[in-house]
Amino acid sequence: MQTNQNISCSVNECTHHANSENYCTLQQINVGKCQGSTCSCADTECASFHAK
Ligand code: SF4
Repeated sequence: MQTNQNISCSVNECTHHANSENYCTLQQINVGKCQGSTCSCADTECASFHAK
């Protein structure tokens, strides 16, 4: 699996995670909001997440 060293990620519950290294394997990801209005990073999410 090819890692994308431009996308650092520690969410190893995701099927796109590189497992042995903390990187994503996708070419690009989509980032979205958890709610309608965002005022902190906790209100954002990786919309490309897919559970293992
Ligand atoms: S898709 Fe998102 S959550 Fe999944 S490994 Fe890539 S950056 Fe992390």
